[in-house]
Amino acid sequence: MMTDTNKLALKPGAVIGILGGGQLGRMLALAAAELGFVCHVYAPAGDNPAFDVAARHTAAPYEDEAALLAFAKDVDVVTYEFENIPDACLAFLVDRVPVRPGVNVLAITQDRISEKNMAVDHGVGVPDFAAVNSVRDIENEIDRIGRPCVLKTRRFGYDGKGQTIIRDGDDLAKCFADIGEQPAILESFVPFDLEVSIVAARDVNGKIVAFDIPENRHENHILATSRVPANISKQASDKAMEIAVKLATALEYVGVFAVELFVSEGKDGQEPQVLMNEIAPRVHNSGHWTQDACHVSQFEQHIRAVAGLPLADPFRHSDAVMYNLLGQDGAQWEALGGELTTQENMCIHLYGKAEAREGRKMGHATQLSKRKH
Ligand code: AMP
Repeated sequence: MMTDTNKLALKPGAVIGILGGGQLGRMLALAAAELGFVCHVYAPAGDNPAFDVAARHTAAPYEDEAALLAFAKDVDVVTYEFENIPDACLAFLVDRVPVRPGVNVLAITQDRISEKNMAVDHGVGVPDFAAVNSVRDIENEIDRIGRPCVLKTRRFGYDGKGQTIIRDGDDLAKCFADIGEQPAILESFVPFDLEVSIVAARDVNGKIVAFDIPENRHENHILATSRVPANISKQASDKAMEIAVKLATALEYVGVFAVELFVSEGKDGQEPQVLMNEIAPRVHNSGHWTQDACHVSQFEQHIRAVAGLPLADPFRHSDAVMYNLLGQDGAQWEALGGELTTQENMCIHLYGKAEAREGRKMGHATQLSKRKH
């Protein structure tokens, strides 16, 4: 039977445009190829590992309207692998070709304040927060928010960049200077038990499915490992799913997204607290293990959603731990002929980046084990 999803679906050979040429774009392009699609990756010139695996690419600035026009004419749908794409670029494209997820999604999730306001409006819990634009604003809000608290730039923050913790006795002017004196958010510090994320997909008809929840460990603000299943209660994971459904529905989202969450399990029979940290409107590093541990990867699921195909069952057949391989882990990464590749059930994914800078994500490795529950 023909469903609505089928009617909207792209046919094999259709062209999927991807904005952004990093590892997420690369893995999206590989997944798209597996489904018979052609990918055209658009990114500014530089080290773009996605170019190596896509049928076509354009190396041009996001402001180059002639290049964007040619790109729009070549593709059937546009998606993106990172959220900091200039508004004008998407506004230009959306008049010419479907953009999934939609432009409103980026406008909201690029700004930590509008993202949190949207979450609160839809009944999703977040840390106490305030918008602050000056040292005076911070002075006015800090007693209500309490110390320690976290000061983050409203826009363009990632992997802990553009944020600082304010503790008792810290000089507020110095903290504001540390984040570049930019419009910011002041958040209460959450003494969580565990950081987890929910990686889920919504299709063009509003159907939502989620992968099992990984627990995430960061080192130096960069994701180090994601482990499934997470060591959280059923109540906490149900709450995480409710949050994903509320947010994806509110945003009329199409594609894969991740919600980073702080979990505090309830003590003495109390309910667990699950607070939203942030939304990633794209495939996410904490979902990479799905490539090896599930019947469908987050990358294929995203391509299915943006192409109007039915979502696949995100069943997880194995337990998994995903390790990020960073630039400075030379011994791990460069000597891959050695230790890591030979470990039992270790699945290696390298991004083909030219230069291994400190903290740069060069690849990941997912170790599978028999599913216990
Ligand atoms: P973010 O850039 O917002 O994802 O923050 C990076 C990391 O800083 C998070 O993964 C947490 O480990 C930590 N962090 C951020 N905000 C808070 C908060 N309000 N309370 C406690 N830890 C936080």
